[in-house]
Amino acid sequence: MDLGLKNKVVVVTGASSGIGLATAGMALEEGAKVALCARGAERLDAVAEKFSALYGADHVFAQAVDVLDEGAVNAFAAAVLDRFGAVHALINNAGQGRVSTFADTTDDAWRQELELKYFSQIRPIRAFQEALKTSGQGAIVATNSLLAYQPEPHMVCTSSARAGVQSLLKSLSVELAPDIRVNSILVGLIDSNQWQRRFEAREDPAQTRDDWFADLARKKNIPLGRLGQPEEAARALLFLASPAASFITGAQVEISGGISRYI
Ligand code: NDP
Repeated sequence: MDLGLKNKVVVVTGASSGIGLATAGMALEEGAKVALCARGAERLDAVAEKFSALYGADHVFAQAVDVLDEGAVNAFAAAVLDRFGAVHALINNAGQGRVSTFADTTDDAWRQELELKYFSQIRPIRAFQEALKTSGQGAIVATNSLLAYQPEPHMVCTSSARAGVQSLLKSLSVELAPDIRVNSILVGLIDSNQWQRRFEAREDPAQTRDDWFADLARKKNIPLGRLGQPEEAARALLFLASPAASFITGAQVEISGGISRYI
């Protein structure tokens, strides 16, 4: 199947690692022009250099941006338009989860988490909305989490914020139609830097990576018996961002190895 992304412009936030990195690489593989952002310039520049060598510097643009910084996001949008002349798809992927129960989540932690989850959507959508509209085939896809529908008490504020974001996306899929489609993926456990960091902080330093991840999949009762790979989330993000998904809006695709228990 041709996704129809050749020479289209795809923006990926949080593109220096994990799911975002895999998505940016796959978009380039499809012939798209890709604009990448993340906060850390060093890691992002290394990624951009590698991608430029593989796919041509004329297809790659990277800028260090914190998606919560309105000025920086607006400047990024202007720079992307200046560089590529159009934007066809925005993949809002930047972020991370917060592990805390209600008892140990302070007001500041609540505010930070709500700000991260909501404004990592709101700021880039505001900044790219007009360009997406004028592209004639605008698409927004968000990386969200299964926690939106299946909250976990040990991630109380992340779960709550994820549910709110899902509601926001559904509203936007109506308000921005028919010019811009809005969809999301709901990920379960994907083997990215977030889990690598938790593995590195494991209780038993003698436990190997393979054993630690296998143990985690068992504890979480993942029917497919393992964590997902970033590419497995990236394929769904890219499909929803592409003209191949032209009649899909307001939808969410679960990428969880079957971990959800709702129907
Ligand atoms: P990674 O830590 O591997 O990648 C996160 C990326 O986002 C990095 O490039 C990071 O770069 C960037 N980033 C983080 N915060 C910001 C910010 N404020 N502004 C710009 N860039 C930012 O994690 P994943 O690939 O797992 O995460 C991708 C998304 O998937 C996240 O939103 C995460 O919450 C979500 N998710 C992942 C799950 C999983 O199991 N992996 C489960 C549920 C949801 P830098 O730090 O340099 O900014």
